[in-house]
Amino acid sequence: MEPFTYRADRLYCEETLLEPIAARFGTPAYVYSRSAIIGNWEAFDRGLGAFPHLISYSVKANSNVQILRILREAGSGFDVVSGGELARALKAGGEPGRIVFSGAGKTAPEIDDALAAGILMFNVESSGELELIEARARALGKIAGVSLRINPDVEAETHPYIATGRAIHKFGIPKTDAIALYRRAADSPVLRVRGVACHIGSQILEAAPFLRALDEIVEVARTLDAGGVPVEHLDLGGGYGIRYEDERPMDIARLSQSIAQKLATARLTLILEPGRAIVGNAGILLTRVLFLKRNAEKNFVIVDAGMNDLLRPALYGSYHRIAPAERRAGGKFVADVVGPLCETGDFLARDRELPDVRPGDLLAVMTAGAYGFVLASNYNSRLRPAEVLVHGAEFSLIRRRETLDDLLDAETVRG
Ligand SMILES: *Cc1c(COP(=O)(O)O)cnc(C)c1O
Repeated sequence: MEPFTYRADRLYCEETLLEPIAARFGTPAYVYSRSAIIGNWEAFDRGLGAFPHLISYSVKANSNVQILRILREAGSGFDVVSGGELARALKAGGEPGRIVFSGAGKTAPEIDDALAAGILMFNVESSGELELIEARARALGKIAGVSLRINPDVEAETHPYIATGRAIHKFGIPKTDAIALYRRAADSPVLRVRGVACHIGSQILEAAPFLRALDEIVEVARTLDAGGVPVEHLDLGGGYGIRYEDERPMDIARLSQSIAQKLATARLTLILEPGRAIVGNAGILLTRVLFLKRNAEKNFVIVDAGMNDLLRPALYGSYHRIAPAERRAGGKFVADVVGPLCETGDFLARDRELPDVRPGDLLAVMTAGAYGFVLASNYNSRLRPAEVLVHGAEFSLIRRRETLDDLLDAETVRG
């Protein structure tokens, strides 16, 4: 479903015009469609049908508590990668029994918080981490559910910074080491082996790498079962790609069905951890044109949002469509869309054909719902933007724009 559409040349989010949102809450601002978030989540859920499953939304893609609340109400669990994300998931009412804790560098305080909350399982990424979890569980008198994150060594075509499933990456445990480590976990009175996990990367457009990774973790699960360490969960991770420009991502319903078919005879619960595919196309970044500028080589459209608000173009060279809130007749021109920051890498689009835009115009940077606000910073002492949620013809502020007090308060010298 496409949540952002033109009607009579004006851009809507669901039934809501964008201009009144900008007038009320200012720019830059992230705007999200509630029904798109729910629709994207349901595509995973429906695809898996009656096969036992848990969709644990990956909080790092967009961690606004109000968005987590919507997903929890839809039935989602959560995949967290830090104590901060765990706190958000719990604040949103997330059921601890549906929370998975991933990440290669968990600390003792984070592990303690997760044990106190009673999460489903830690996806463990090293033998050192397994030892630490065991020690903390012993100290707190708790049982820790664990899966090992297997590095399946499968290649998935994506940006090198977001590929994670090859042997060269810091993530996961090689299959060859996993069985011995599982044994150790199974022998511990305070660890409970719950599953086998993997996560091969992000923005993967093909189904094949997921199905290959699934084969790898199924094989580990079978070996464990034969060795008397049965597991109940297979966690295939996230990484399902979306369309930014002209990509042709796999159909989520079809992929889910293929997965469910492959597992048909297994008595397992399948966990998926989609992030981007749930929120990516459900959000935009609204920004206003400040100035037009041209030099000998290039045209520039200077807008009030920059790399501190949306880092993806600067970090990954990512493409985001740029759409005017109001289309008008007129010529096209080619320009870089750039922000106000003092960095040459501060661009939202490069060499982009744009319609006739003028200072004061409102632009939507499309497909910005995932890895958008969460990567925002205060660089150049800029205030992080507002976030707005649209529901039909209504909209509400779900995170206020930061203030100068927010910026300065933490830097007071104390005794
Ligand atoms: C980042 C991450 C995800 C989500 O990835 P998407 O590409 O946003 O779906 C899921 N699981 C783990 C372990 C991750 O690190």
